[in-house]
Amino acid sequence: MQEVFNYIDGLFSPSADGGHLENLNPATGEVISTIPRSLQADVEHAASAALRAQPAWNALSLEQRALWLDRIADALEEKHEHIAQSESLDTGKPIALARRVDAARSVDNFRFFAEFAREQTEMTFKMDDAMNYVHRNGLGVVGLITPWNLPLYLLSWKVAPALLMGNTVVAKPSELTPLTANILAETLHELNLPKGVFNLVHGLGPEVGQAILEHPGIKGISFTGGTATGRIVAATAAPMFKKLSLELGGKNATIILDDADLDIAVKGAVRAAFTNSGQVCLCGSRLLVQSSIADAFLPAFIAEVEAMNIGAPSDETSQISSIISREHLHKVESYIELALQEGGDILTGGTRAMTGPVGPDAHGAYLAPTVIGGLSHLSRCATEEIFGPVVTVHIFDTLEQATEMANATEYGLAGSIWTKDVAQGRALAQTIDTGIVWINTWLHRDLRTPFGGVKNSGVGREGGQWSLGFFSETTNICVIDPK
Ligand code: NDP
Repeated sequence: MQEVFNYIDGLFSPSADGGHLENLNPATGEVISTIPRSLQADVEHAASAALRAQPAWNALSLEQRALWLDRIADALEEKHEHIAQSESLDTGKPIALARRVDAARSVDNFRFFAEFAREQTEMTFKMDDAMNYVHRNGLGVVGLITPWNLPLYLLSWKVAPALLMGNTVVAKPSELTPLTANILAETLHELNLPKGVFNLVHGLGPEVGQAILEHPGIKGISFTGGTATGRIVAATAAPMFKKLSLELGGKNATIILDDADLDIAVKGAVRAAFTNSGQVCLCGSRLLVQSSIADAFLPAFIAEVEAMNIGAPSDETSQISSIISREHLHKVESYIELALQEGGDILTGGTRAMTGPVGPDAHGAYLAPTVIGGLSHLSRCATEEIFGPVVTVHIFDTLEQATEMANATEYGLAGSIWTKDVAQGRALAQTIDTGIVWINTWLHRDLRTPFGGVKNSGVGREGGQWSLGFFSETTNICVIDPK
């Protein structure tokens, strides 16, 4: 069993008071590691180290910091398989998915921001008698708080631009998935990143996470997680005038129009609903189908869902494995029970039964991909975030109804529209209150584009320029040259 430590001021160490937590493999229920149960004293230690390290780090040129990002990307790439195996073990996700998505994207995040930095030109505004130069400095120390669904993918998405812009970091991963954040700390240590530039503090959200939010020396918070936690983050950090980026929950609509290419739309909708067992904030957990195509689309969709391979995370052919924990399993199952109470029909799934090569696993958190019909689009199951392998199906007649249904939740993160008429798709996309809409695709990411949600799905955008903007302060320098 692995013992994971905090990484503070260039050293791996237990929590100040020696407290620790157990970390489970959700597919088996076995304890796979311990982590420090850090408290305020550990955050104080990490923030002090980060504050000491920040001036020298910020004094490096953008190119020097971009070179660091290149080195980190290269070193992580060498650990691709180790990252994928650790992520699969920690989250219960299929190994093929962990390789293709988590391990690959964690490398890409560092490489992308290094290259993006090199494309930047200085922003200037010329006047008749003066020149304005827009200069960007790091904020100082930033707190990065991340969830369990895409652990290193989301942490590296924040660490890379934070370091690039001259910030030093105090990071807290979810206590459910600490292993790959630890691999990142080990990698930075092996590369001799200056001590204090990156600090990692493990533990519980209300303890160590809250201490990060409250620390007066931490000037910016980039948080990805649930909307309820996001409210706590905002309530704590906003009165301290911390810069805040909030990437929160979603209840995204997949809209199938009657002229959609059936085969492409079926495969796309299944991928949108069930990637990572529905545990991606962008997952299309509401399927809105135009009435005239419903009889053709729905049987094909259900057949495609039933053809998915459910199996152990280590099985190379698994497409669906364990969800994150037994607690989360109970939460998702409670929504399936609620769906029945709300008048829904289970069209497929709804049980723990395994159909894959490992058979039923009494200790794991396996749930068959579940499709529910017959619910109002205003029901709780169709409007609250379930964050598991559950999709609800709703039928509409007109595009106006599609818009009304898509917008009928407190969330507004993402969505997808499937149609051969791209102009019609774009027009419909503009009526949907979300930060991102894909047309005839899903989770197709260009890292230069703005990423984030509206309504209760978040505040602010990350990605490309938006990340560089969030992780920096701008100073306008207005110059008159007397010569
Ligand atoms: P949580 O909100 O429960 O946790 C997110 C992080 O916040 C964890 O590290 C957690 O620690 C920490 N945390 C909890 N309480 C506090 C607190 N009081 N102060 C500071 N930090 C705290 O989310 P989940 O981990 O359950 O992740 C799932 C959620 O994340 C879903 O709602 C999903 O939609 C959302 N998400 C959003 C994305 C986006 O880009 N919009 C992307 C991915 C996920 P601990 O684990 O110890 O509780």
